[in-house]
Amino acid sequence: MYKYKQVAEGQFVLSIDNHQEIVEALGAFCAEKNILAGEVRGIGAISEAVFRFLNPATKKYVDRAFDEQMEITALVGNISEKDGKPYLHIHLTCSRHDYSCVGGHLLSARINGACELVVDRWDAPVGRQFDDETGLNLYKF
Ligand code: FE
Repeated sequence: MYKYKQVAEGQFVLSIDNHQEIVEALGAFCAEKNILAGEVRGIGAISEAVFRFLNPATKKYVDRAFDEQMEITALVGNISEKDGKPYLHIHLTCSRHDYSCVGGHLLSARINGACELVVDRWDAPVGRQFDDETGLNLYKF
């Protein structure tokens, strides 16, 4: 599913295998390394992505899929802990064949090419809890 190399104390370079789904593979990596707080960033190429938009007024989600070859121009996100497991919050911007970009809160993305990530593990765990006002799982400090 992925290969990785630890390059510093708490820092990993991760190469997810072709045709894997990024969120699933990254979650599996964080579970394997017991990463419950940290940061992820990376680049790559994908053939499909599903984004989620939350309308704050209605608290309704609108999901949208893009089924086309795209370059990941920026994957950024954080890792925290919810219910004892790694909780990923990832945003993705990607470019299409005409160089226009789409992006947003990432639900899933299928690699078609490569996906190269850097994962930083923080020392202290960071939790999440559901917030009624926003309808979001916010940081719990
Ligand atoms: Fe988000």
